[in-house]
Amino acid sequence: HLHIDNATPEKVKAAIAKGDTHPRIPDYENYDKYVTSGGYETLLKLRDGADWEAVQEKVLSSGLRGLGGAGFPSGKKWGFVRANDGPRYLAVNGDEGEPGTFKDRYYLERTPHLFLEGMLIAAWAVEAKTCFIYMRDEYPAVLHILANEIKALEDAGLVAPGYIDLRRGAGAYICGEESAMIESIEGKRGIPRHRPPFVAQVGVFDRPTLVHNVETLHWVGRICREGPEILSSVERNGRKGLRSYSVSGRVAQPGVYLLPAGSTIMDIIDAAGGMADGHVFKAYQPGGPSSGLLPASINDVPLDFDTLQPLGSFIGSAAVVVLSDQDAARDAALNMLRFFEDESCGQCTPCRVGCEKAVKLMQADTWDQDLLADLCTAMSDASICGLGQAAPNPIKLVMKHFKDEI
Ligand code: SF4
Repeated sequence: HLHIDNATPEKVKAAIAKGDTHPRIPDYENYDKYVTSGGYETLLKLRDGADWEAVQEKVLSSGLRGLGGAGFPSGKKWGFVRANDGPRYLAVNGDEGEPGTFKDRYYLERTPHLFLEGMLIAAWAVEAKTCFIYMRDEYPAVLHILANEIKALEDAGLVAPGYIDLRRGAGAYICGEESAMIESIEGKRGIPRHRPPFVAQVGVFDRPTLVHNVETLHWVGRICREGPEILSSVERNGRKGLRSYSVSGRVAQPGVYLLPAGSTIMDIIDAAGGMADGHVFKAYQPGGPSSGLLPASINDVPLDFDTLQPLGSFIGSAAVVVLSDQDAARDAALNMLRFFEDESCGQCTPCRVGCEKAVKLMQADTWDQDLLADLCTAMSDASICGLGQAAPNPIKLVMKHFKDEI
């Protein structure tokens, strides 16, 4: 499984001769380094007879919420899964397909064991029989790191061989939706399931399943090791906790920035070194294309789970994309709808036909706003899953805030 950027026969030969499976494996904290600094001591203590509800309480008191996009209080999920008889499973969502999101990759390429220990703590809490890691195949270095470090855990006797089952996704955005991911883990076509029943009751192979995002488990590991205060003691603009913002677009220094959850878009642009030279801030996507586009004038709102909802947006996975005076909001929205059109699984008509119809309508010189508004309502109200329900957000927000462009 060899990936080489701009591969030439010489480069491939040299990589194979060196024994590499990927020529650009970053310098990361491996098992030996992690253990030297006290890694896995927390897990071993817990396995030694601790009360899972005390750990759940710790996670709840930190205020940690799911960081894949939905924002559900993490500790609560453990209780829902435990309420169902075993065998139970844990499935990690590492698909990270929301355009503009790269925070999971950031953590996995640096401190994979913080995530792995967090995962094993959550697995201990719900007595999971197997941990499935569903990892984005477009992250070859991460797959290489995880395969090596899971082997190190097996060799060290911390997990039985096969207890952690690393699976490769195949580039479908919809497989980041938890029930579609579960279908894919089972070897089927990844399409979302109807709910109820919820995956906490009927998940992988019809068994109760705890689904967590990679970054969520990274924080579970840190909370158990360093205490819930690492999140609960941080406060800004009335919001508690920290958020890893993946920042890209017209900023001077794109990257992942760990900031208080109450940060505004101006705080985030500041952290990213300000706007890129020659660009004036015009609009931003707060949490992936599903969150639509907000104008620069809305710049004093904390970018957190509950604050963006009244504005017709949401923080999702905190993928902040900054646009400037050199970008057209209508082009950005059209680009987002083209993405949804491509990625719709096609299972339900409002999303499959709605995305296609929206793209056609948005290509007109002048948008038929009444027709688009009707289409948005049908898509939001009648689609099965979040993709089709949120796909109209860019259209609605451009019609509201960028009227002069349409
Ligand atoms: Fe598939 Fe779209 Fe329907 Fe979701 S809303 S099930 S992605 S067709």
